[in-house]
Amino acid sequence: MKPVDCPFYYSDYYRGRELEECRLIGRNPQSRPWRRALCDSCPVPDIMHRTDCTDLAVEAEVGRRLFIIDQVQVTYAVCLKHKTELQDPLHCPECAKEREQALTPPLPPPLPNMAVGSPQSPAPRDEYRRGRGESEGS
Ligand SMILES: [Zn+2]
Repeated sequence: MKPVDCPFYYSDYYRGRELEECRLIGRNPQSRPWRRALCDSCPVPDIMHRTDCTDLAVEAEVGRRLFIIDQVQVTYAVCLKHKTELQDPLHCPECAKEREQALTPPLPPPLPNMAVGSPQSPAPRDEYRRGRGESEGS
């Protein structure tokens, strides 16, 4: 079996103890019992990896797919940051909006009046001309 790369999977082989548990299923008393093989078809690691929600929490249970095969199924997904229940655990509309705003920063503020070349400040150009004249004379 491939190793489980999941934030909820926990194993402890310390001193011959062989403890494996799913802390997601483990805290759902209504679920059918969990066993390690269920991880191989579990959608949760993929959801946690791919979701655009920055603070996703899910609840899951061992359900029966096609009434024969036990499979972990997400029963409830919520964005803890926005306190909204998500229909799709892969997508939080609020987090997506925030991310979009972070990627496209607002336009920079207009330049102040003292910018070089504006009618109010001819000084920089005059100084430049004078300095150049002196260096040519010496
Ligand atoms: Zn969110």
